[in-house]
Amino acid sequence: MSDRCRHELLPGQCALCRPIPAGVPATVYVTRGGEAYHGTPRCAGLADGQWYAEYRGNEVHAIEPISAAAAIVKGRSRCLVCLPE
Ligand SMILES: [Zn+2]
Ligand SMILES: [Zn+2]
Repeated sequence: MSDRCRHELLPGQCALCRPIPAGVPATVYVTRGGEAYHGTPRCAGLADGQWYAEYRGNEVHAIEPISAAAAIVKGRSRCLVCLPE
């Protein structure tokens, strides 16, 4: 049991325990309709996405803070505007 993470998975099998990429904060910001995660809710890329959704007549989703690990597990990619590599 000692070599299982707190999610009961073996090391390397648990996406939640994967290290967060360098430069990415523990808490990031996403919108439900977006594909990226952001380091700040005031990111210009995030604002562009919101504006574009409104422009197309789509529902504009609220900006939600989530853990970086959860964002990565959901397949979000880092925003290169506010989180350059
Ligand atoms: Zn884990
Ligand atoms: Zn961003």
